[in-house]
Amino acid sequence: MKEEVKFIYLCSGFNQHLCYIVSCTISENKHMKRAIFPGTFDPFTIGHFSIVQRGLTFFDEIIICIGINQAKKTLFSVEKRLDIIRQAYVNEPRVKVESYNSLTVDFSLSVHADFVLRGLRSVGDFEYERTAADANRRLTGIETVILFTESKYSYISSSVVRDLISYNKDISIFLPPNVTL
Ligand code: ADP
Repeated sequence: MKEEVKFIYLCSGFNQHLCYIVSCTISENKHMKRAIFPGTFDPFTIGHFSIVQRGLTFFDEIIICIGINQAKKTLFSVEKRLDIIRQAYVNEPRVKVESYNSLTVDFSLSVHADFVLRGLRSVGDFEYERTAADANRRLTGIETVILFTESKYSYISSSVVRDLISYNKDISIFLPPNVTL
């Protein structure tokens, strides 16, 4: 991802005979602010979508990444979860969707991300997020950016959606626009 682009400038000064070459190497993504948004996303909800939309106002690129935890039983397969999220971003080239089965910080290094994006709904989320943010910063220096949920989405969680699904309820209002399960 960090391809190097070489620019060569040919400049001529006041003196016609003075012609010099300035060569500089610019890392394509030197100033690009890239964040990962890790989660289980079982499934991805409009609450997650809102965090990403707001994150895009200050990050250049967000990689939504599904952490694969073999010990954690999920309703949707990884492939289905990837498909659900990709549906939401077909027209958004600044959002990439991937899965990973390593430590989150190792994944962030592998994709050259400088930030972890997370959402906070309640004090219940707070301690977990603070501990994870501290550990990740200590391990790699990566910063975690946490956005408070929009209050209209604060009650939405993947587990509520899964519960409703188990009772055959219509959950379309909890999904991002243009997404079907
Ligand atoms: P995890 O298992 O890592 O908590 P989740 O898929 O449950 O994965 O959540 C991923 C991130 O999205 C977390 O930071 C979580 O707090 C946040 N999040 C979940 N639901 C909402 C919501 N309704 N509004 C804002 N953020 C949310």
